[in-house]
Amino acid sequence: MPKFLITGGAGFIGSHLAERLLSLGQRVVVIDNLSTGSIENITCLRSSPDFEFVLDEVSNERVLGELVDASDAVFHLAATVGVQKIIDSPVETIVNNVHGTETVLNAVAKKRRKILIASTSEVYGKSTALPFREDGDLVLGPTSKARWSYACSKAIDEFMAIAYWKEKKTPTVVARLFNTIGPRQSGQYGMVVPRFISQALEGRDLTVYGTGEQTRSFTYVDDVVSWLLLLAQDDRAVGEVFNLGNPLEVTITGLAQRILRLTGSASRIRYIPYDEAYESGFEDMGRRDPDIGKAVELTGYRPQVELDEALRRTIEWRRGRIQEEQQTALKPASS
Ligand code: UDP
Repeated sequence: MPKFLITGGAGFIGSHLAERLLSLGQRVVVIDNLSTGSIENITCLRSSPDFEFVLDEVSNERVLGELVDASDAVFHLAATVGVQKIIDSPVETIVNNVHGTETVLNAVAKKRRKILIASTSEVYGKSTALPFREDGDLVLGPTSKARWSYACSKAIDEFMAIAYWKEKKTPTVVARLFNTIGPRQSGQYGMVVPRFISQALEGRDLTVYGTGEQTRSFTYVDDVVSWLLLLAQDDRAVGEVFNLGNPLEVTITGLAQRILRLTGSASRIRYIPYDEAYESGFEDMGRRDPDIGKAVELTGYRPQVELDEALRRTIEWRRGRIQEEQQTALKPASS
């Protein structure tokens, strides 16, 4: 039975990928340093005899080499992500994303395994060539603005992945994920959907940054996982980059309004300037709209879960978590 190594498998997307692989009867080993991922995300998987968890850094060459050796293919999702996290920890972001990926690619090349690397729509930066196509130009802001270090670090990851394929014939696939949403995503590092949902359910103002006219396109995590699996098993995907997203573009104000409607919350929308929300001179991406033609043509798959349904499922999950947290808080401390 094949075994898959998922780096960053205790994170939001990685844990869903691990769960799906296990449900398909595969074996999974996860390596994660729990910097942004959490044990909670994989609690339900740990009882499976086909699941193994290793708490370590992907930059630990020895451990990684052993894990790659014992695996048939690798999904590399370990990365420092989240706009807030990137601004707070730019050194960690750059080092983890560049050196981590370099270590993983090196191990995979030595053992001649296949690897799928998760990248990000952030690499398109301030490009206005919409919808974004994989062969379009990347337009990043100045190096003085930490936000762009993330895009740049992931672009280097992409360059490395393609270089390993061209030069060393290591089979690599790059997936550029647009904003992915679903249960287990944390709002702690900036991500807008879990933040708005928590704010709405807790009766707090929904904090829209900037004018709220900026757009994003959100994809439900199950759709992303389905696509990752299809790409990983298709030899035609090797050496290629794919946008994985949902073509429905919404403004951030529109997103806040949807979440208010779906939660039935009486919270209000409050507009906060970027400088106050993040840092002075912060630059956002105005629009983010994927051309998914390449991934659809190769895999025959397109997103199945519509935005409202994706939000409903995420709201239900968050409601459940809030209830659990309240019950835990009410429990008397054991003597
Ligand atoms: N955003 C917002 N309020 C928040 C968090 C984020 O209005 O509490 C905005 C953010 O400025 C951006 C969009 O929502 O325009 C998506 O932000 P996120 O950090 O989720 O992802 P990214 O910017 O990487 O697409």
